[in-house]
Amino acid sequence: MAVAVRDELNVYESAEARFETAAAKLGLEQGIYSYMKYPEREITVYIPVSMDTGQIAVFTGYRVLHSTVRGPGKGGVRFAPNVSLDEVRALAAWMTWKCAVVNIPFGGAKGGVICDPVKLSKTELERVTRRYTASLSDWLGPERDIPAPDIGTNDQIMAWVMDTYSMHARQAITAVVTGKPLDLGGSQGRKQATGRGLMICCNKATTKLGMRREGCRVIVQGFGNVGSEASLLMHEAGYTIVGAADAHGGLYDEKGIDIPRLYDWVNNERRPLSEFPGGEKLSAREVLFRPCDILVPAAIENQITSENAHRVDCRILCEGANGPTTAHADPIIERKGIFVIPDILGNAGGVTVSYLEWVQDRQGFFWREREVNEHLEDVMEHSFDEVVRYAETHRVNNRIAAYIVAIDRVARALKLRGFYA
Ligand code: NAD
Repeated sequence: MAVAVRDELNVYESAEARFETAAAKLGLEQGIYSYMKYPEREITVYIPVSMDTGQIAVFTGYRVLHSTVRGPGKGGVRFAPNVSLDEVRALAAWMTWKCAVVNIPFGGAKGGVICDPVKLSKTELERVTRRYTASLSDWLGPERDIPAPDIGTNDQIMAWVMDTYSMHARQAITAVVTGKPLDLGGSQGRKQATGRGLMICCNKATTKLGMRREGCRVIVQGFGNVGSEASLLMHEAGYTIVGAADAHGGLYDEKGIDIPRLYDWVNNERRPLSEFPGGEKLSAREVLFRPCDILVPAAIENQITSENAHRVDCRILCEGANGPTTAHADPIIERKGIFVIPDILGNAGGVTVSYLEWVQDRQGFFWREREVNEHLEDVMEHSFDEVVRYAETHRVNNRIAAYIVAIDRVARALKLRGFYA
């Protein structure tokens, strides 16, 4: 791979490039800039796990705490073969900006374990999770750092995190982790929250651009937690989902895909998305370049790059994944006049309901789904308005506006706290 392309695909550099641009436009003082640029702490753990064969395997895990300026660290745990410290570092910083954009009282963190969860048995997965959590238990906690699900992890894994931490603390501490099952202090609406947040942003954007929702063509790449829930909710709201993809391939159907049936096919019947009857079969990447009104990349990072951004054919790009568009692709997308809902705003519905879960756990009183959804809608709509207003009044694109709103909030908190010693 050419060096330029490799640099472009380094998510840490992509995240940093946006931070640098926003910090320069904001006129951030040098000291504050340096403080925010680096994480507070990076932890690497080597996790010995007894496999079902009886052999010991050692996995590498990370937890990066980027900032606790506005509150405890918050961020998911990713189980995937290609997890790297650079990636976790970038994702931790993004969490700081994401929590600040939607103005919830958290800092940013992220974790990951290099493993392939599909190849691990359930008991091996449980042992990896428990040992990873135990190794980090001094640094986690409802007031310190609160994990959540991300790629390759789910509510069962969060339940094991909660149990392991609680065993060490000698009491049940549900608020140490979010995205838990409902029976264990989880929140109504958390499962759909990221997808719902994306839809709320799309509703705002279509209204702003004078687009009709009925018949509005949407393509969603990624059919996991974020992509499948976003597709289902948007389908129910009257959008027409014309394209969908997972890691193994994609589908395109101009007339619209039967999303409730596809949801069932993938999530309940556990069948491959690409074998769903009807529509044109495409590669997972190719689906991004079919014509649509709204494109929702909700799979992994680095999907839209300087090499392919010219092929994107939509009016609204609403980012469900973290970092689906590289920094080098940003100017190409901007020149095409595409209205961008950047990841740190678009997918913030997940962390917003994680915050609501943490609040409910700490108060020991749980809300109905309607109430959770109302809070979420309020936060997302307000944040969308703030970002777009900033972009329009300061003549910057939506992504840089979101970063500026976020960085400014963290900088103000930092100045109020001052520098200890
Ligand atoms: P997931 O593991 O549930 O689903 C990922 C989906 O992407 C799967 O359908 C998978 O097959 C697909 N995929 C993987 N590689 C692909 C590729 N190369 N091309 C096309 N599809 C591919 O993960 P998730 O929780 O849905 O997270 C998806 C993205 O959203 C990630 O970037 C994650 O960081 C981000 N995110 C998740 C949440 C959340 O609440 N889960 C919140 C904010 C952001």
